[in-house]
Amino acid sequence: TTMTGAEIVNLAMSGALGDKIYAGLFHPTAGPVNLYEARFASFKQRILAMAENLVCPWPDCGVPADRCQVHHLDAHKNGGQTNPSNLSTLCAYHNGVNDDGEVPGKNFTKPKRGRMVRHRGKVKLLTPGGRLVSNTHDLSAMGAMDLI
Ligand SMILES: [Zn+2]
Repeated sequence: TTMTGAEIVNLAMSGALGDKIYAGLFHPTAGPVNLYEARFASFKQRILAMAENLVCPWPDCGVPADRCQVHHLDAHKNGGQTNPSNLSTLCAYHNGVNDDGEVPGKNFTKPKRGRMVRHRGKVKLLTPGGRLVSNTHDLSAMGAMDLI
């Protein structure tokens, strides 16, 4: 069905919709709209990130995915969304040294070590010199994106 936001709120408040409501928002030309933007990855998003990178994807790192943090490739503080294509695992150390870019309006800088990016579907390090480098750990070749 189609209803306005006011109509659904009024019906929900009156109890007329029951306790099992599934609602979505669809833009006329862009399609489904993400209504569940969150700061932190959900359990399913964490599982997907771990399936993609079985170890931290930073070159020469071997920290297993289940000991990694979930990292926003485009930093959340800079507007990066919490969705699977913008998420990757990174160990705590490499999540800390990853260059998230400058925060507009703040003068925070840290040594440039490069940043993780998604290139042709895979997560790689973009070095300060502009090279894309993959982790060559044996388990890196067994992640979901390497199997398809
Ligand atoms: Zn690492």
